[in-house]
Amino acid sequence: MNTIVRNDELIAQIGESGLPPYNGARNFGYLKVGVTRAMTEIKLPIHVVSGVEPGPTVLVQGAAHGNEIAGSIGILNLLENIDPEQLSGTVIAVPVLNVLGFEMGVRLSPADGKDILASFPGNIDGSITEQISYHYFRNIVMQADVLLDFHQGGRTAYERYILIDAPQNENQWNNMEMNRLSLAVVFGLSAVAYFPPGTFAENQSDVLIDNNIIHLTPELSGGTGWYVNNRRDIRDAEQGILNILWSLDMVSEPPIYRQRYCDVYDAGNVVWKSNEDGLFVRNAKFGEEVEAKGTYGKLMNPYTGELIAELKTERKGIVIPSGQEWPTIGNTSVGILGDVVQVIDRESADLKVSLL
Ligand SMILES: [Zn+2]
Repeated sequence: MNTIVRNDELIAQIGESGLPPYNGARNFGYLKVGVTRAMTEIKLPIHVVSGVEPGPTVLVQGAAHGNEIAGSIGILNLLENIDPEQLSGTVIAVPVLNVLGFEMGVRLSPADGKDILASFPGNIDGSITEQISYHYFRNIVMQADVLLDFHQGGRTAYERYILIDAPQNENQWNNMEMNRLSLAVVFGLSAVAYFPPGTFAENQSDVLIDNNIIHLTPELSGGTGWYVNNRRDIRDAEQGILNILWSLDMVSEPPIYRQRYCDVYDAGNVVWKSNEDGLFVRNAKFGEEVEAKGTYGKLMNPYTGELIAELKTERKGIVIPSGQEWPTIGNTSVGILGDVVQVIDRESADLKVSLL
């Protein structure tokens, strides 16, 4: 393990004084971000790896949802392996963002049921998640040019793509959106999926766009296959960060990809299950095209095997690597359909991004 200098004071001052100089140091500290109603002080673990040359600032965070931890382990591995002497710019790393949810093994904060990202830019006088959001956003997030926010399907869902909550509408695209797509592709997963803003409440990122922060949400599997997939997912988290650092000219090592092509999806078609409860079993395969009113899956009684309902798709589309395979209760999303609007060849595409 590389030597880490514990320096809470330096971390606390970032909001006022900015990031430390490009001196090749690795600093770590706990940032005080709020107090619960029972007077427990909450602190976030913040690593700052300073390169030796000027460059962009990339913020990587894990476990914004407390039970989505492949990214957290990938980030810890990156911290162990990264060499500040070979780095330009700064990497800020927060292995666990939702510390209360992480401790309880649940998605949201068990203290107030809220989501830190959805609470940006926070409220200093609000509930604990709003306080965390306030201090984290002002002191740490505002330093970043790029925010990589690691997620996965948690315990019951599988999701594997880079999620972007913006319309895939080229007329509206500016330079920042072009850069966002390049960074999403360079990360290395087989799919990038654009969702209309507001599809998932927790992914509202207007405040990040307003502050010129490029926001990417890698979804790294999860679900009941966690122990099958986790080595790959953890490795993909670390390699994806390194690929992005290469794209931004922060490291010189060339990117490594698992696959050459990246499918870019318009992913407006979330398959919502009706209110019936049951064990969901998907028929449609990832990457398969499903016709309108085609069978996406079924709901079964998990004890008798009786069919409760067949789930039909609203419209034609390709099955994005996503879904639930577990008893689903109430009106939940069980999968996502999309249209492939672009296939990017990583070998021939120019995936270098300049933020100047
Ligand atoms: Zn999540």
